[in-house]
Amino acid sequence: MSYKKYWNEEIETIDRKDLEVLQLERLKEMVKFSYENSPYYKRSFDEAGVKPEDIQQLSDLVKFPFINKQTERDTQGVGSFLGELAAVPEEEVVFISTSTGSTGVPTMSPFTKQDFDEFQDTESRWFWQIGMRPNDRYVHALNFSLYVGGPDVIGAQNLGALCIWGGTLPSERLLYILKTYQPTILWTSPSYAWQLGEKAIKSGIDPKKDLSIKKIIVAGELGGSIDATRKAIEDLWGAELYDFYGLSDIFGACAAMCDAKDGLHICEDQILVETVDIHTGEILPAGSVGELVFTTLRKKARPMIRFRTGDIGWIDNTPCSCGRTHGRIHINGRKDDMFIVSAVNVFPSDIEAVIRDIKDITGEYLIRIFEKDFTCKYSVEIEKNEDNFKTDEEIENEVSTALKARIGVKPYNVVVHHDGELNTRSEHKSRRIIDERNLDYSI
Ligand SMILES: [Zn+2]
Repeated sequence: MSYKKYWNEEIETIDRKDLEVLQLERLKEMVKFSYENSPYYKRSFDEAGVKPEDIQQLSDLVKFPFINKQTERDTQGVGSFLGELAAVPEEEVVFISTSTGSTGVPTMSPFTKQDFDEFQDTESRWFWQIGMRPNDRYVHALNFSLYVGGPDVIGAQNLGALCIWGGTLPSERLLYILKTYQPTILWTSPSYAWQLGEKAIKSGIDPKKDLSIKKIIVAGELGGSIDATRKAIEDLWGAELYDFYGLSDIFGACAAMCDAKDGLHICEDQILVETVDIHTGEILPAGSVGELVFTTLRKKARPMIRFRTGDIGWIDNTPCSCGRTHGRIHINGRKDDMFIVSAVNVFPSDIEAVIRDIKDITGEYLIRIFEKDFTCKYSVEIEKNEDNFKTDEEIENEVSTALKARIGVKPYNVVVHHDGELNTRSEHKSRRIIDERNLDYSI
């Protein structure tokens, strides 16, 4: 049987000019809806002096304030169960997912029925894009507990594939399913795809001959977009590997590879992408590496307007050989507020707590994260009060000892300045962390 080429040809191959018209129309609606229904956006737009009518073209979005993970944490549960960012009453919400909380308090993401249906239609688009068809057997081997990637299996089911809701099974059990039911497509993490293939071989199963897996979807780690890693897994399985990219704050997968395997198409009818300078927040042109900022164009339960994803990457809007016109994102890595020193997770908020607790220093600080001898180090610069008569060495020791006691690892050094010298108070939004590590932007 011959199938159509695209899941939704009209949307996926839309002329970019028409796509921008559609985006502008949806952006206007979404900004207005958020301002009128979300207590957070009402307050934040008022404070920034912007109104929904200020959106006359897509580039006007730059006037609006950013939000980030911290905004989610600060507003959830405030005022109502769904929190201040939410824009619908609880009775309209049919599903919530929550993040793992691996970098702090878990955040909750609510969906209305329409949000959820459009989420799953987008997932169907991705599955169709990698070649899943109704005659495929699909194993969804992702965590179902609270995780936003769990329900993506419904997108596969909606396109007609035979779906097996695997979840996070022990590898013996998963291999048994692959051998017994002979599925053709599997979704798991890249590292697990590698481990599972090796485990199969060790237990006498040749993934290329004894199994029927033709395509493997991976997400959650960068491996699927690193050519060497992808090819190694493909060789091990004799299967094609496709990278997907999701955010617990938005969709299980917001972007996915096509057969060209040159970046991940993002659903630009659902998500507007901006790239901004990591430090200054200034808009960068398409093709430049920076922090990806997403604005949801349809999600009503909790609209995300100018959400700084914390992911570093770039977008390619040039035509793709597959015929799809939506831009392709390339993710280079995660800009996280957490960094790791000697295997200890360090949060700037912990450093701040220590600094603010020490007497006779101003509480202003600057953290530098850098690499020395191939390991990550951090240094802290502080200001002493004018009436602090201790020697700089005494202050350095005091700060260093307090940091070690609270965090577990000493800073590489502590630099003492005079009151006001750090200049961290003069900026609208203080820049207190300087990451000097040599991040690899070449991927
Ligand atoms: Zn493509």
